[in-house]
Amino acid sequence: MHLGLKDIIHTPGAKLSFSERVDLSDLLFGTCYPVKELVLAAGTVRNTADVLVMQGTITARINGVCDRCASDFVRDVQIPIDVVLVEELSNEDSEDEWVFPLENDAADLEDIVRTVFVLNMDSKLLCSPECKGLCCRCGKNLNDGPCGCQKELDPRFAALRQLLDK
Ligand SMILES: [Zn+2]
Ligand SMILES: [Zn+2]
Repeated sequence: MHLGLKDIIHTPGAKLSFSERVDLSDLLFGTCYPVKELVLAAGTVRNTADVLVMQGTITARINGVCDRCASDFVRDVQIPIDVVLVEELSNEDSEDEWVFPLENDAADLEDIVRTVFVLNMDSKLLCSPECKGLCCRCGKNLNDGPCGCQKELDPRFAALRQLLDK
């Protein structure tokens, strides 16, 4: 999917809005494909002193199995887009993952959305960033409340614990 930028590419101050659906369903994350539905990428590209800046938001629904508590989950996430578009990549730019080259005065929106999405995803798929996971002893899902097990203590705290118990 290409976003034509001919009209703003050489006009400082000009901007172009976009709102496109992008298919990321083939994105493999670990062992699953978490983005089953189309994601929405919306925002603007602005020519700021002849630099093209793309800003916006990716709205996506993530389906997965939580790496910590092993429950199935569906979570809506919003990921900011904030990248620079250049007519030609210099050597310096090619090391910068937030700089994208244009092709025939057009931005490859799908490539940008895909890259930004991957760079922003946590390394783990979690049902929530605060997921408490499972008790390593009894296996209870700690998001449902604490379990009856006594917490395994770090040996460094064991001495302190003894003092407190007295
Ligand atoms: Zn979880
Ligand atoms: Zn437990």
